Amino acid sequence: MLDFVRTWLFPPACVACDAPGPALCAACAPAPRDAQTFSLDGVPGFALGPYDGALRRAIVAMKHGERDPLDAFADLLAARAMIDGVLVPLPTSRGRAAERGFDQAVELARRLAVRRGLAWAQLLVKRGAPQDRRTRRQRLDASGRFAIRRGAPLPDRVTLIDDVCTTGATARDAIRVLRAAGVDVRRLVVLARTPPDRRYSRTQAGERHAVPTPLKNV
Ligand SMILES: [Zn+2]
Repeated sequence: MLDFVRTWLFPPACVACDAPGPALCAACAPAPRDAQTFSLDGVPGFALGPYDGALRRAIVAMKHGERDPLDAFADLLAARAMIDGVLVPLPTSRGRAAERGFDQAVELARRLAVRRGLAWAQLLVKRGAPQDRRTRRQRLDASGRFAIRRGAPLPDRVTLIDDVCTTGATARDAIRVLRAAGVDVRRLVVLARTPPDRRYSRTQAGERHAVPTPLKNV
């Protein structure tokens, strides 16, 4: 579609609050003081902020197919996150990425790599892909979600990229498989982290999809 027609039909607006203007307005973008640092299996983690409020609304919009905030998120990560080594996205299941039209972790890794002048690689594949011969039950097992992409050259050091870190189970799986392959996982960088004390309270409040179980990488 011609840009001016698209702009006329869909004027640019903040995905979190609908204010006209950039995809993530200044009021909704996480501030530097919102940043969260944590550790997961000895890997230092970084999040732009807690998975809550405007940041959460923007991420949910992205999960529903809204691409506009990707650049804004990549700008914020590029400015604030410590990165070491090759950027490796945690892949979403193909079904979900296909529904959405893109894999948000891949898109973030790609954009972040450009901004920081780093390499990125789709090193991990999600098990449960069509060629996977494991049974459904095995695929649903909480561990072993990932495999190293066949034939992929292995970097010495990587930084993992994902959108949200909830229980950390998904990232732990990725760390395990990479370490087993001799790759040093230096950092984990995500957009948002669910605060430990809120991981279960949201479901009790009846809010749907707020807390993905470790089995679902939403
Ligand atoms: Zn806003």
